[in-house]
Amino acid sequence: MRCLVVEDDPDLRRQLSRTLNEAGYAVDFAKDGEEGHFLGDTEPYDVVVLDLGLPLIDGVSVLERWRSEGRTMPVLILTARDRWSEKVAGFDAGADDYLTKPFHAEELLARLRALVRRAAGHATAALESGDLRLDPRAQRATVNGNPIKLTSHELRLLTYLMHHEGRVVPRSELIEHIYDQDFDRDSNTIEVFIGRLRKKIGQNRINTVRGLGYQLVKPEPE
Ligand code: CA
Repeated sequence: MRCLVVEDDPDLRRQLSRTLNEAGYAVDFAKDGEEGHFLGDTEPYDVVVLDLGLPLIDGVSVLERWRSEGRTMPVLILTARDRWSEKVAGFDAGADDYLTKPFHAEELLARLRALVRRAAGHATAALESGDLRLDPRAQRATVNGNPIKLTSHELRLLTYLMHHEGRVVPRSELIEHIYDQDFDRDSNTIEVFIGRLRKKIGQNRINTVRGLGYQLVKPEPE
């Protein structure tokens, strides 16, 4: 999953960088509203953390612009304590959730998981596909109850495919959702990751649809 953080406070950016990286997100940062708006308008994020008090363009205006331009990614706004009018303005601009500063990392992560899940149309926390189960909170996957060891990129790839089970996901979309902006995106590495995933979760679980992309499928009943 790929996350955009728009936050002007360097300390908070550092803290969020650590928290989100440890939780397995690919993260891009913007330091002001202009850069934030640009990134959110041009890159496909699975979720956005948006501070409201920002230089150049304030957070509410950034959000209004995204929504008027048809950007529908889930957005969690960060607001100052006791500023109820900020929250109202944020929701009216199209925010999906909010968190008041200061906040606990665990609460932020839980809210982001819920947003990503809802955006993909899932109500439950764990993702399941046949005997394959993935717990995004613990970043743990099991096949038939047996834990499988995945690298962070493999885990991101599998999480994205499981959120979109059954759909043929283009390779370009996978690249955009599992790497951050600065990563050297060699598209061949996706094939390598898919190959490794197949070895770990079963060869017949991910179809290659030639010229189109990859599709996670439930195993055929015996
Ligand atoms: Ca701020």
